[in-house]
Amino acid sequence: MRPKEAYDRTLELLQRHHEWFRSAIPLIASENVTSPAVREALICDFQHRYAEGWPGERVYAGCVYIDQVEIIAMDLARELFEAEHANVQPVSGLTANLAAFTALTDPGDTMMCLSVASGGHISMAKKKFGGTAGAVHGLEIEYLPLDEKRMNIDVDAAAKKISEVKPKLVTFGGSLFLFPHPVKELSKVAKDCGAHVMYDAAHVAGLIAGGQFQDPLREGAEVMTCSTHKTLPGPQHGMILCTKELAESINKAVFPGIVSNHHLHSVAALAIALAEMLEFGKEYTAQIVRNAKALGKAMYDQGLSVLCPELGFTESHIVVVDVTKYGDGGTLEKKLEDANIILNRNLLPWDPREGRHYKNPGGIRLGTSEVTRLGMKESEMKQIAEFIRRIVIDNEDPKKVAAEVAEFRKEFQKVHYCFESATEAYEYIKIR
Ligand SMILES: *Cc1c(COP(=O)(O)O)cnc(C)c1O
Repeated sequence: MRPKEAYDRTLELLQRHHEWFRSAIPLIASENVTSPAVREALICDFQHRYAEGWPGERVYAGCVYIDQVEIIAMDLARELFEAEHANVQPVSGLTANLAAFTALTDPGDTMMCLSVASGGHISMAKKKFGGTAGAVHGLEIEYLPLDEKRMNIDVDAAAKKISEVKPKLVTFGGSLFLFPHPVKELSKVAKDCGAHVMYDAAHVAGLIAGGQFQDPLREGAEVMTCSTHKTLPGPQHGMILCTKELAESINKAVFPGIVSNHHLHSVAALAIALAEMLEFGKEYTAQIVRNAKALGKAMYDQGLSVLCPELGFTESHIVVVDVTKYGDGGTLEKKLEDANIILNRNLLPWDPREGRHYKNPGGIRLGTSEVTRLGMKESEMKQIAEFIRRIVIDNEDPKKVAAEVAEFRKEFQKVHYCFESATEAYEYIKIR
């Protein structure tokens, strides 16, 4: 392609992506859509600047306004999570984790957490899987045992194993995360063995902020790491909340340890997202959880094997379906995508035992953060469950369903739970 052709083609692809998302049902549990104000902040001049160091002690000039914005973001983060200290510099959840590992452990130490198949994240994984904790920071990993029926950490077995292993760090949280983890029950055991306790709230930070999940910093976690773009509807960025005792080591691990440029436009966008969460977060996240439970029940009523029916399917934004009766997660993910229903395949905890791997796992994972943000409620969850049944069980033509999905989506184009919403959620903004 010639330069101008590539230039035009790229811009055209962006617009087509926006068009597609206007008419699709976005159910990826790790995603969300930001408010117009957050998007405005993301294209401001901060994205051209550097501000290494701490507000007021920068290595660069030109930070007069950047400093004030970063202080607002830190203040709001502390208020929203009732935390003693906030660091808003990690550029993602993964880098927030790496900073926390760096502050709390040395290479060669042992960390206990969930395996990826049991809901852990690749950033917590072993060296042999290329995980950040193992391959980058050199931690040895021992797994917290999972009660597969309850899709949660097995408290008694975990307490026993923590006492035997005596790890340096116990990390709670994960990516396949239906129910609050037993932080309160296990923190004391961990600390009695000399371990630090950390909680990876990448997925559930928004739910925690809205008071709809657990409250790790009150339950024994000393450090909570977050992505700021999953249930917390901010920019793609990261954040760390911690006790004041750990503030200095966390700050040093982040800078100069993990970031040089900390993406100042994202810090500004985060400040706005945090302000909107303080104002609307409770209402928004309560609806996310109601929608997740409703979606779980509706899919179950349609005949799908939704996990944990006896526990109400979920207490978070996530619902998981075992699709092995109808094929595999990979094939169904693609078919659903052809029907404008966007979700992801997911390993089920017992998949490795049964010979399935991440390309063709036994599950699909759905999240309700983004559809809730678009104004959908319980009755729309029933509609979505029907669309999914028609693809997964009835094997209908995806193209036919896609057209109906696009029609269904027409009414839900604005972002809710924010101060101002003049621009549509997926409006393409042209400033050339
Ligand atoms: C998404 C996720 C991360 C990584 O977050 P990024 O912001 O994508 O880097 C870390 N931990 C868990 C549990 C996650 O789900």
